[in-house]
Amino acid sequence: MTFTIHGISASKGVAIGRVHALERDRSEVVERQLDPSRIEAEVERFARAVDAARLELRAVKARIPDGTPREIAAFIDTHLLMLEDEAISSAPIAYIREKRCNAEWALKLECDALVAVFDAMDDPYLRTRKNDVEHVVNRVQIHLGGTDEGNRRSRSPSENAAAGKIIYADDLTPADTVLMQHQGVAGFMTEFGGPNSHTAILARSLNIPAVVGLHRSAALLRDGDEVVIDGREGIVVVSPTKSVKRFYERRRREIERIRSARRKLRATPTVTADGEPVVLQANVELPGESAGAVRDGAAGVGLYRTEFLFMNRIDPPDEQEQYETYAELVAALKGAPVTIRTLDLGADKQVDGARPDAPVTSNPALGLRAVRLCLKEQSLFRPQIRAILRASASGPVRMLIPMLATTTELDEVLRIVRDCKRDLDARGEGYDRSMPVGAMIEVPAAAICADIFARRLDFLSIGTNDLIQYTIAIDRVDDEVSYLYDPLHPAVLRLVAATIVAGRKAGIPVAMCGEMAGDARYTKLLLGMGLREFSVHPNALLEVKQIIGETQVAPARKLARRILRSTRTSTRHALIEELNQTAP
Ligand code: PEP
Ligand code: MG
Repeated sequence: MTFTIHGISASKGVAIGRVHALERDRSEVVERQLDPSRIEAEVERFARAVDAARLELRAVKARIPDGTPREIAAFIDTHLLMLEDEAISSAPIAYIREKRCNAEWALKLECDALVAVFDAMDDPYLRTRKNDVEHVVNRVQIHLGGTDEGNRRSRSPSENAAAGKIIYADDLTPADTVLMQHQGVAGFMTEFGGPNSHTAILARSLNIPAVVGLHRSAALLRDGDEVVIDGREGIVVVSPTKSVKRFYERRRREIERIRSARRKLRATPTVTADGEPVVLQANVELPGESAGAVRDGAAGVGLYRTEFLFMNRIDPPDEQEQYETYAELVAALKGAPVTIRTLDLGADKQVDGARPDAPVTSNPALGLRAVRLCLKEQSLFRPQIRAILRASASGPVRMLIPMLATTTELDEVLRIVRDCKRDLDARGEGYDRSMPVGAMIEVPAAAICADIFARRLDFLSIGTNDLIQYTIAIDRVDDEVSYLYDPLHPAVLRLVAATIVAGRKAGIPVAMCGEMAGDARYTKLLLGMGLREFSVHPNALLEVKQIIGETQVAPARKLARRILRSTRTSTRHALIEELNQTAP
């Protein structure tokens, strides 16, 4: 019987194939008491599993395709280092001997102990490192599983097993994702994870169709089931009929045809049909992604999310490492501007939870996130600002502050920037003395007061992902309320419009870097509302450029006004349709 499962779109495209399920199985680890005569053999078995996990990771690293962002190798190095650490490679052996238990149980005990230590850490950044411990332990557990009861399926399928298959897993690590690309998987779907997870981001940069957040779907899917992944809609069709398959095969060919036709737009200027120039830039999570963005004609990087540089590693990058990374990105952009956003850790970016002096926070998205965290933990903030300033000596750099909500925060940030400039002067380091500083407008308070912020800043960038979350009061990673997530909600549109007007009055540029900017359904509306700077995911560059080239500003402005005035959801959606159908 054909049925569909709805998840979250993580990476566009269509994939058709059979399910290859990978299991984590952590919950299935059980304790077995061993006969004393079997203890040394169990120790041997454990050591072999650690070796196998290490070899596997080295093989993954060796097979990273050319052109893959170099951060991916760094993710894998971190996991290799952990495998070499005593805590994971030796401590379970002591448990096996002491408790006379099976290797899986000994490893689980050690993992629980390590996770508890990480959980108790004061430093919110270090607390998040427990995810790496879990990933590494899981990899060893899989190798143990293959030789113990023989009832586990490998998490890293053999090449033949994976080629052309759709991988289904509870969650995937970046290392898994790289391996899968090498093995030629057709696509993947995961039980957990949002569209901003590392895995989703890598899937987009590696161009693997993917759907995430398929909660509770394990019971509905079996190994070998035929499925279609519709990455754009976030839908999985299970046991498609012949006609459904034909539909998606046509769609896949159509997507490929459209993509190759759009490649012609790479070198063309971004202007509307009536000749208004528009700035079209790319959002980048990993500096390595900038090459594709430049190739597709991005006029710079409108949002570099630096937090990805801080994830999946033991120590945060110091000023020098950050400087080198930023300077490399600036060099790769060959004179096009780069907007570097200061750290936006917290909330869905893995440093939620307890602070040393406060109980566990129940609303991390409203908690110590982004600039709030940076102002509190200045040992994290100051080196980053100095690194950004130093990078500005080698090309056009703008600094973007996420989640500003009050002018007190702004005062504090500007004071720290001045301090950092003095530090660099004292060291004799060069930087752009007038490096533009801007703010993300992503908190409704900032959007309502955009005129106040605009007077004190060099540019604004509208972050619709959070602006929508905070305006409509819906958690952006909670799929149970995602039906409310509507960029056309009048409150959102009014805030966007007010921000554009505030920027114009203050004479500063206003960009949009949230996902709304890269969603081609809204391009004409945003142009009609007066937006002239878009920063979008690299895969969306050419599609948005094409729509811009088809837009006549005057009729778009007229329809945008009607959409803004309209009080009915259905009318707004109908008007958007009408706007998108207007002839160039
Ligand atoms: C946004 O909130 O729109 C944005 C671009 O930032 P992020 O998605 O990283 O929170
Ligand atoms: Mg945001």
